[in-house]
Amino acid sequence: MQSASEPLDQAFAAAPRWVLHDILKELFREVGPAREIITKKLVITEDQAQCGENNSSGEGDTSEDLETSDDSDASSEEQEVTSAAPKTSSKRLRPRYAWCINCEKDFDTTENTKKSCRYHPEYCEADSDEFPDHDERCHGPMDTPENRENFPDRFVFECCDRTLEEEPCKVGWHVEDTEGPIKRRKI
Ligand SMILES: [Zn+2]
Ligand SMILES: [Zn+2]
Repeated sequence: MQSASEPLDQAFAAAPRWVLHDILKELFREVGPAREIITKKLVITEDQAQCGENNSSGEGDTSEDLETSDDSDASSEEQEVTSAAPKTSSKRLRPRYAWCINCEKDFDTTENTKKSCRYHPEYCEADSDEFPDHDERCHGPMDTPENRENFPDRFVFECCDRTLEEEPCKVGWHVEDTEGPIKRRKI
């Protein structure tokens, strides 16, 4: 039996992001209680955002290499990041969610830790040995989104020689894209 919320759930899942965006904006304008909820979910003060130290410098200091894991249980290393942002506290408002320039994903800035982000610092290229019969002059480029999806084991990262199938080699803080997250985002 279909529950009452099911068609609505499906409609949410199917709606393009910009439509949902417009609906939220309208609710924000027209409905007082919605304004409060939306603000609470999407806006925080600067001191609530966790971003590590000096991450605007773009230095890799806060990242560490991920060993090809013989101990997959890294729980002993997990620690509460209490002193993550020992910067001056600021009550200025800012967006809660941001786009990470390293892993190229959205993240919640209130839950960012030095182990949140997994990424490769270098690019990944098609391994031509893995495409022995592929002549780019007649078959087109090896490096296409379709090939990446269908043959992830044939694409290798320069930083670590791992493939698209394997875990990224670095772990660190998500680093916020301060230059216009919306533009970069693939919808
Ligand atoms: Zn790598
Ligand atoms: Zn990240």
